[in-house]
Amino acid sequence: MGSLKIENVKKAFGPVEVLKGIDLEVTDGEFVVFVGPSGCGKSTLLRVIAGLEDSTSGRVLIDGEDVSVTPPAKRGIAMVFQTYALYPHLTVKNNMGLGLKQAGTPAPEIDRRIGIASSMLSLEPYLERRPAELSGGQRQRVAIGRAVVREPKLFLFDEPLSNLDAALRVNTRLEIAQLHRRLKATMIYVTHDQVEAMTLADKIVVLNAGRIEQIGGPMELYNAPANEFVAGFIGSPK
Ligand code: ADP
Ligand code: MG
Repeated sequence: MGSLKIENVKKAFGPVEVLKGIDLEVTDGEFVVFVGPSGCGKSTLLRVIAGLEDSTSGRVLIDGEDVSVTPPAKRGIAMVFQTYALYPHLTVKNNMGLGLKQAGTPAPEIDRRIGIASSMLSLEPYLERRPAELSGGQRQRVAIGRAVVREPKLFLFDEPLSNLDAALRVNTRLEIAQLHRRLKATMIYVTHDQVEAMTLADKIVVLNAGRIEQIGGPMELYNAPANEFVAGFIGSPK
């Protein structure tokens, strides 16, 4: 299970309110994409969901449970960042397994999960390498693999393809779509790329200056944008 409910979430940094009342429901297994211009609050919203940032007010519920006092490691969430955030001194295998090891997962179970994830992501040949010996695309697959082995209820991706060149972006996007089909997990994915949003999303959430402008399926937003802003972002005239 991995449903999410966000109720009137606000977040201020000092006097600046960057989330101005976000309401959102994500059902189990859904692929939801957040789009919006730089600085509109996409990463902050992900970080509030993950528990890396406290909201100023409002509630986040995962599978119906208020997680306001649940630490990030206990939320059943795994996050993938634009910058991969791998440990340079650890092998691919140990990067993928570290979180499980720290959580006390027995070694044979860690190995089993790494086996499955590395096969899904074609990482078997690289398990003993270190991040510096990998391409950008391979590094991001390791970061995705590290999320997969945790068997999270909810995957959060923050512009995971932004540092990759065009060809790798397409490949990695297809891999993420395939992963979603195989794992049937709930995924929330931030991007400012319309093509990624249109091809990956069951549901797109258009954010602007800390508010939601519109929520809908890709074709719904394309054919019936609520306003000029959404039309401009999804690329269809109103
Ligand atoms: P996005 O991911 O959509 O580009 P962010 O969520 O990163 O936007 O940022 C939203 C706004 O909040 C920006 O104006 C940013 O400068 C500000 N912001 C983000 N994190 C912090 C922080 N830790 N302290 C102060 N301001 C922040
Ligand atoms: Mg961001």
